[in-house]
Amino acid sequence: MSKSSNPRILLPILGLLTSLLAPPVLAGEEINVYSARKEDLIKPLLDTFSQQTGITVNLATGKEEALLQRLQSEGANTPADLLLTSDAGRLAAAQKTGVLQAVQSDTLNKNIPAAYRDPAGYWYGLSVRARPILYAKSRVKPEQLSTYEALAGPQWRGKLCLRSSDSVYNQSLVAGMIAHHGEAKTETWAKGLVANFARPPKGGDRDQIKAVAAGECDLTLTNTYYLGGMIHSSEPADQEAAAQVAVFWPDAKTTGVHVNVSGAGVTAHARHRDHAIKLLEFLASDAAQRWYAETNHEYPVNPAIPPSATLKAWGEFKADTLNVAQLGELNPAAVRLMDRAGWK
Ligand code: FE
Repeated sequence: MSKSSNPRILLPILGLLTSLLAPPVLAGEEINVYSARKEDLIKPLLDTFSQQTGITVNLATGKEEALLQRLQSEGANTPADLLLTSDAGRLAAAQKTGVLQAVQSDTLNKNIPAAYRDPAGYWYGLSVRARPILYAKSRVKPEQLSTYEALAGPQWRGKLCLRSSDSVYNQSLVAGMIAHHGEAKTETWAKGLVANFARPPKGGDRDQIKAVAAGECDLTLTNTYYLGGMIHSSEPADQEAAAQVAVFWPDAKTTGVHVNVSGAGVTAHARHRDHAIKLLEFLASDAAQRWYAETNHEYPVNPAIPPSATLKAWGEFKADTLNVAQLGELNPAAVRLMDRAGWK
């Protein structure tokens, strides 16, 4: 009998080996997430992740800008490991301020198309949102519609309701126009839109849909999940407003529909970097992608996952293939251009 087969010695060695080869998740393992997504849009997924991995997820939710400021002021002392937020414009802003770090993962690269993630790995898109034209069914025929560019035409004078230029969604849309058409052409276009406003820009995406339904204007641009939310709302007034409008997918023959992402990035000072990557991979997995799409009426970022019935009812569309990181890069130019165009 050799000395090492003494169980009193062997067991601790085995235990050490096991922990070196495959570190088990111990009680007390955790990850801290800052999320600009509302708790009910993310918490059930995080709970599933905890059940599967044994990693406790501590969630802090807040407004996009406030969370970014908090990360900046906390610096190296931040408890946050992962920042979840919406819009490539905001993800790029987070990257620019230095609060994110680049990570690489074969799983993420496989599940998320290149157009929907930062080329250097600072952030990854986790859901896709499309911003098509919404029109008043009773006053506009889809044959009258074609492209974003055509919305600036004189036939739509006084017919257009849009959110303000403060909206990062509109900033990203304009950034996409700059990427495709250049600044000069985009500025002329933006001036044409402003000339067509039915009223000064105000309200959120839902308010634009309500304004079209109320007859204040005939056309607007919104992210489709707002329409999905109103269709499935418990408020009859929301349902009635949603029933007045239809989706038109512009630029089917040209650049495609403007799309953006919600996404997440590992923080620069993450203490649980590996867990953060694991959580990102979980959020890009089939089950999580399906849940995202069903619950918030967004499009799965993973093309293997079919969209929900609500989304299917709006029909298929050609999405812009521009890398959404470009929307962030061109954000400052877009903001200046909207200002020059008089887009309040
Ligand atoms: Fe939104």
